[in-house]
Amino acid sequence: MRGSTMSERVARVLVPQAGKCLFDYRVPDMHPMYRGQLVRVPLGRRRVLGVVWACDPEPEVPPERLKPIAEWWDDWPPLDPVLLDQIAFASDYYLNPLGEYLAFVLPPALRRRKRQVALAAVTDGAVGEHATGENTASQRRSEPVVTTPGPRLTAAQARAYAQLTAGPTGFDPVLLFGVTGSGKTECYLRLIAETLAAGRQALVLVPEIGLVPQTTTRVVARFPGARIGVWHSDLNARERQHLFAALVQGAVDCLIGTRSAIFAPMPRLGLILVDEEHDASYRQFEGAPYSARDLALWRGKAAQVRVVLGSATPSLERWWDSERGRIRRVTLAERATGVPLPTIELLPVTREAPRTAGLVPEAWEALKETLARGEQALLFLNRRGFAPTLYCAHCGWVQECRRCSVRMVYHRVDSRMRCHHCGWSIAVPEVCPTCGNGGLSVAGQGTQRLEAELHAAFADHGVVRIDRDACQTAAAFAALRKTVARADAKLLIGTQMIAKGHDFPALSLVIVVGADAGLLAAETRATERLMQQLLQVAGRAGRSGQPGRVLVQTRYPDHPFFQQLVAHDYAAFANTLLTERKRLALPPFVHQALLRADAPRLEVALEFLTSAKATGEAMREQHAHGHAVRLLDVVPLRIVRLAGRERAQLVVESPNRAALHTFLRAWRERLLQWPQRQGLRWRLEVDPLDA
Ligand code: ADP
Ligand code: ZN
Ligand code: ZN
Repeated sequence: MRGSTMSERVARVLVPQAGKCLFDYRVPDMHPMYRGQLVRVPLGRRRVLGVVWACDPEPEVPPERLKPIAEWWDDWPPLDPVLLDQIAFASDYYLNPLGEYLAFVLPPALRRRKRQVALAAVTDGAVGEHATGENTASQRRSEPVVTTPGPRLTAAQARAYAQLTAGPTGFDPVLLFGVTGSGKTECYLRLIAETLAAGRQALVLVPEIGLVPQTTTRVVARFPGARIGVWHSDLNARERQHLFAALVQGAVDCLIGTRSAIFAPMPRLGLILVDEEHDASYRQFEGAPYSARDLALWRGKAAQVRVVLGSATPSLERWWDSERGRIRRVTLAERATGVPLPTIELLPVTREAPRTAGLVPEAWEALKETLARGEQALLFLNRRGFAPTLYCAHCGWVQECRRCSVRMVYHRVDSRMRCHHCGWSIAVPEVCPTCGNGGLSVAGQGTQRLEAELHAAFADHGVVRIDRDACQTAAAFAALRKTVARADAKLLIGTQMIAKGHDFPALSLVIVVGADAGLLAAETRATERLMQQLLQVAGRAGRSGQPGRVLVQTRYPDHPFFQQLVAHDYAAFANTLLTERKRLALPPFVHQALLRADAPRLEVALEFLTSAKATGEAMREQHAHGHAVRLLDVVPLRIVRLAGRERAQLVVESPNRAALHTFLRAWRERLLQWPQRQGLRWRLEVDPLDA
């Protein structure tokens, strides 16, 4: 009947799934409806939790043919509009389905449960007090947050803090460039205090789960009684759901989390802090891609709040932004404790030089002396496992991964060869599979081998290895950190895992066992990463007591890279690298996307990319800004075979971000229409180097 359909309203609902994720539903005449409202809707044979994305959109089918919304979660506040816009932005920017980003927001347990149960979970938990029944409820605190006094700011900190807060109100992106131990965290705490005092919320992002407890402890100590939320991948279903309920209601004052916390509802957001902003973990490539650091800047702009990106070794992009005035830069050049930065010395390594456990005599002596004084030493080696190669001295055989085109790494702990790319492992062969020779030899140095060799000499000092194999869970990592912080273990051996932001007060000597591989690597980011890792790991030395000492073993002591390292001059290093990137027209001077393809056979991937390139070239001609876009050559990846699939790629780039995106959208539509072929998979990656 015409009369009744006239008054029908329509809600377009976003559901957390890949592929098609927006569906229209019928809404009863008088029912209140807002964007961001949580609803459960029928979808095929399931009922799915989603959010109202648009009210009364132009319906795709007549309303009377639509199904009605199954459940209205009217007593839950709607999701904050900035977060919804952020999801839309991410989907548009990374060319990935919208619904996959909503999946980061809605806890899986909440999606499965019935509404009654979910509501019960909101009202019985430990995160803050909860109200229900108000649609717009955003729970400000009734009493002000208590702040315990922190240390008096040093003169340098006070200056930096004044600069930090001197910016415009509203969106104010700042790079806090402060050497390790300069008291950045103390500045963060003051900023949080201001935010909480204004009745607003602070979001603090840290690069990895292992750093969450350290930051949380400091925040809790400074703001006793504040409602502190913690968001990371180790939360169980109940905790996650509970936290979400509190967040939606604005009942969290400060949220500390890893990258996905950028998808937390924060209706009264007043500040975003991104600690160690250069860290690659902020970028997610698998699943729905995003960069939490970039989304933090986007959200700060949308919510009109200050965003502080802190680092001793900023990413080149952010450094460039601060050089050209896109973001403000505030510098902290000294350590807050007054202890000078460690001295960095280069120890030349030659092929003939005698070495003990991979250490040249000077490093070995320094290690012995440090341990004899009862101090802590750290040996840094960015290769886990026992040794990178097990080979046959008779015929030259080496063990390669059956599924990837890489050598497998020998792990002595469980006597297995392991592929560090796909994880496949096999028992160590007793004899050479090719010639039958019985004595296979070990070459190269890994953390396990270093541990074994040093254990023989220094067992009494407590030797601890910290790498991905030794700490597979957050709990294992936390336990190891405690051992180290208590200084029960005096000799630490670690990969870059240890280089990140940890505070080890008793550490006075750092030896970089081997770093040259990173200097010579072909990847665009390799030297940037290496400098960041080395300065970070150097920063672990001498944090509170006496000045630390850092010894770096290298075959190339005269390389400008090492000269800048010795001078702790990250600014000079970054500017040198920027000049080089500019000359080579590499990011940040050009924006890139990558079309990756893989298939059981390389030809299939190459064929696809070659015709995709031809299509792209033709489209370029037709497009208004197409000339600003360049398609590079189709190339197989350096590691061609990975987990049984062969891979190739094609870079597309442009100095103009908008032109690149316009092109990518149109190109992607064309590629999506192509017929399936022999096991081919492809994927378009925006900002492939942004890690
Ligand atoms: P960052 O975050 O830059 O590495 P932190 O904030 O962790 O630096 O500070 C490094 C060390 O200096 C910590 O042990 C901290 O307690 C101490 N510290 C920071 N600010 C001050 C200050 N104003 N007075 C005394 N000690 C300070
Ligand atoms: Zn052999
Ligand atoms: Zn493999």
